[in-house]
Amino acid sequence: MQHTLKDQVTFKGGGLHSGEPVTMIVSPALANQGIKFIRQDITDVDNVIPAQWDMVEASQLCTRLTNKAGISVSTIEHVIAAFAGLGIDNAIVILDDGEVPIMDGSSKQFVDAFKQVGLQSLDAPRKALRILKTVEIKDDQGRMARFEPDVSSVFEYTIDFDNDMIGRQSYTFDLNDNVAFQNELSDCRTFTRMQDVTMLQQAGLIKGGGLDNAVVYDNDRVLNPEGLRRGDEAVRHKLLDAIGDTYLLGMPVIGRFVCEKGGHALTNQLLHELMSDPRHYTVIEDHLGIGTSSSDGNVSSTSKLAYNA
Ligand SMILES: [Zn+2]
Repeated sequence: MQHTLKDQVTFKGGGLHSGEPVTMIVSPALANQGIKFIRQDITDVDNVIPAQWDMVEASQLCTRLTNKAGISVSTIEHVIAAFAGLGIDNAIVILDDGEVPIMDGSSKQFVDAFKQVGLQSLDAPRKALRILKTVEIKDDQGRMARFEPDVSSVFEYTIDFDNDMIGRQSYTFDLNDNVAFQNELSDCRTFTRMQDVTMLQQAGLIKGGGLDNAVVYDNDRVLNPEGLRRGDEAVRHKLLDAIGDTYLLGMPVIGRFVCEKGGHALTNQLLHELMSDPRHYTVIEDHLGIGTSSSDGNVSSTSKLAYNA
């Protein structure tokens, strides 16, 4: 079955790149509505922005959606990852500015709040996109992203940074285990290197960035006084991003996503390649209940269980 939230949840914070304060209200939605953003501060043109793969503007640093009227919402990936990881299909996300609040740089506060309010099952079957043929894209700098057929919803990521503390990290994760999503991925924060901070600031980005919402690596040390949440927090965060970015297909994927040295733009290019040929995939009923603890629709009790665990 499809799911939405039982009640609305409000988040207050600042945009990572804009530095502007923003209030975000996530509300329940009806079956088959999907995830939609609404820019409450825009009233003269269409202010509804569907969370769809073909509305993404390519960016290395965040995922931005833009509707046909040119209205955008940025840095959507961590809240979308929370929807994906908890199996939430339908929600309305109302903002009074153009960027989702960065919170602590991870999906943790979104996941905690959604679990607290609880999920509601809807009287409509959930769909999943099953990969039928391997689809791969590469560039000349060693970046690669691929979907291949699999029986579950698997994400495999490798990063390789010229930095002593990050270095090469790999992690494989099955999204079908939503308790693992909550415990192992959802609190992993976005990160940057000290040498990149000045460049990003000069480009007018990360105006709201700080040690309370991003891990900053400076050669062989981490500048955040509390240190890392996991030794391999960086690659786990990239997985979190990939889970959010691929959920813009509007449903979970049954297949294996493999990525090496990728990012938001590469993942979105892969989605375009995947959807360019209907022979690459088929849409089926989600018999696994990906992201939800069970597929029997008994969400109230399972979400409570996961919360107490
Ligand atoms: Zn991220």
